[in-house]
Amino acid sequence: MDLDVHQGNGTAKIFENEPRVFTFSMHGERNYPIRKEKSDLDIGLPDGTEDAFYLKTLRENLPGIADAFQPDFVFYQSGVDILESDKLGRLSVSRSGCRERDEIVLSFCKDNRLPVVVSMGGGYSPRIADIVEAHANTFRVAQEVFF
Ligand SMILES: [Zn+2]
Repeated sequence: MDLDVHQGNGTAKIFENEPRVFTFSMHGERNYPIRKEKSDLDIGLPDGTEDAFYLKTLRENLPGIADAFQPDFVFYQSGVDILESDKLGRLSVSRSGCRERDEIVLSFCKDNRLPVVVSMGGGYSPRIADIVEAHANTFRVAQEVFF
């Protein structure tokens, strides 16, 4: 599950012919890479996407993956370049929206008894503190959800 603002193109390409791996990427449609690879589920978001639409789209799509694919575990790329403050991201998700994204994903994993590996990604906000806080929130949420 790649929720970095850039498509998980490398992962999609590596596993494009591997039916045991389900690749899901939600990203900025107009962001790098211009030529997208094909994930099992790609959701390209328009520029300026804000919290409500971002989180609704995520919530609506996760149950279908669990039902159709029944994963054994999840690798979650929690890129914080979806933030409105990001120089490259083109989306407009607030820091609290980014945190809610992590809550949705990690609660989904917990509810479905899915072990999860989190990898950080992205972060091109001019203020380093914005990036650090958003990354720290991922781990704060993990602590709240799992412990
Ligand atoms: Zn990125």
